[in-house]
Amino acid sequence: GHKDRVKHNEVDGLVGHFPPCMRNLHSALRRDAHLKHVARLQFGLFLKGIGMPLEEALIFWRTAFHRMTDDQFTKGYAYNVRYNYGLEGKRTNYTPYSCIKIITSNQPGPTDNHGCPFKEFSKNDLKLLMKSYGVEETAMTDIAKLTKDGHYQVACTRLYEATRGNAHRLANASLEKSKAEANAPLVQTVEHPNQWFDMSRISAA
Ligand code: SF4
Repeated sequence: GHKDRVKHNEVDGLVGHFPPCMRNLHSALRRDAHLKHVARLQFGLFLKGIGMPLEEALIFWRTAFHRMTDDQFTKGYAYNVRYNYGLEGKRTNYTPYSCIKIITSNQPGPTDNHGCPFKEFSKNDLKLLMKSYGVEETAMTDIAKLTKDGHYQVACTRLYEATRGNAHRLANASLEKSKAEANAPLVQTVEHPNQWFDMSRISAA
């Protein structure tokens, strides 16, 4: 099930189930061996949401930030990781950010990697991103139009359908039948990056 414990060294193997915002943060992290504060919150809480416990998260971030010393990591970053798990500061048990929160808060600057790619990416970068998911031309045109009109979550749902829809339908043949009878869309609009992950992982199971 998707609530299994996710280990620090299993993240790279799960990227195929990540929505665009999280794939983007993952590749920025691998490229720079670093992520800035809001990006760490966005990605760290997502990882918590897919089932990564605190002790694995500490190893994950320590390993990912391989250009810094243990001392730098402990002083500058370990606190943030524990904070995400409610063990520091106000000791709130923070939950992963929803799409609305990602889209509307913490407006990213030019050197930031957080946020929703449908909102933040240039036309060309979005195209490259869609190519990385293997989206076909027709769906690409749809997604580009939805993005241009500001329907970011619908665009993201369309991307999900275009790349995972078939597997999802096969895995949920009976669900498909009942939903088709109700004349409802087969895939719910994406409201949350963790919902995207869960749907993708279930459809591949
Ligand atoms: Fe991530 Fe939501 Fe944007 Fe999709 S719509 S990329 S899940 S923030």
